[in-house]
Amino acid sequence: MHKPALVVHGGGWAIPDDMVEPHLNGIRAALAAGWHALERGGSALDAIEAAVVVMEDDEAFDAGRGSFLNRDGRVQLDALIMDGATLRAGGVGCVERIRNPIHLARIVLEDSPHVYFVGPGAERFAEEHGVPLIANEELVIEREVERLRRLQVQGESPADVFSASHDTVGALALDKNGNLAAATSTGGTLNKTSGRVGDSSLIGCGCYADNQSAAVSTTGWGEAIMKLVLGKWAADRVAAGTPPQQAASEAINYLQKRLSGHGGIIVIDAQGRLGIAHNTPRMAWGFATPGQQACGIKR
Ligand code: ASP
Repeated sequence: MHKPALVVHGGGWAIPDDMVEPHLNGIRAALAAGWHALERGGSALDAIEAAVVVMEDDEAFDAGRGSFLNRDGRVQLDALIMDGATLRAGGVGCVERIRNPIHLARIVLEDSPHVYFVGPGAERFAEEHGVPLIANEELVIEREVERLRRLQVQGESPADVFSASHDTVGALALDKNGNLAAATSTGGTLNKTSGRVGDSSLIGCGCYADNQSAAVSTTGWGEAIMKLVLGKWAADRVAAGTPPQQAASEAINYLQKRLSGHGGIIVIDAQGRLGIAHNTPRMAWGFATPGQQACGIKR
């Protein structure tokens, strides 16, 4: 019997002061949902799905409703979930009509011989598996319409607009059977070109889980993270004997040194050892173990 553990993040960027509390509240709610699943005897997969659904539903984060808008003013979502016991994975990319992409990703993992569905094909798969399609407008909120307008119409610099928030979400868990799982869900980057996929939903980039190494979720500049296959890079370090905290720090150093990239990472291994690192001004994070829970916005 293993001691369960749960770790979540709510994105790494220059989270502004007035968004700190909403982020921490969202992190606490996600921890509560995921921990509840683990306490009921649920699997690591159940816990991370529950935690990520909470953050997708929370408009504070760049996932699900309230995500950044793409260049066409639409929400386009990517998500991946991975099981460290079997290496089964489910991913969806560029979905526009799904309220909780991580739930759809879980169905891909459970019910499909394939690993990854994108765009209209993913939405057809959803319908065939009883997941309701919603109008894209239901995912769009006024705050994001205004943010996109400031960038596109007023010509505000991307750095200024980005600095307001950037908040992919992720969750990792170790369950009582010693199994690891990882999930990452995102609306991607502001003003992205339609069809752009970032690191978050790509196996080994924004998300990875293997009981023999570690579970990992990343956030940040997706184009750099995916070139370095950073999630797998960190997991491989853990497999080679590097403690998770050191692997997390080394991964962010590598991102910075090799590509001047910025981002954040959370890592957990099969012994329940955690790693959290970022080179962004802030990253929202939280973890729970039996009798202990903590969250923060900076570390
Ligand atoms: N990594 C995500 C992407 O590039 C964005 C983020 O983490 O905020 O799509």
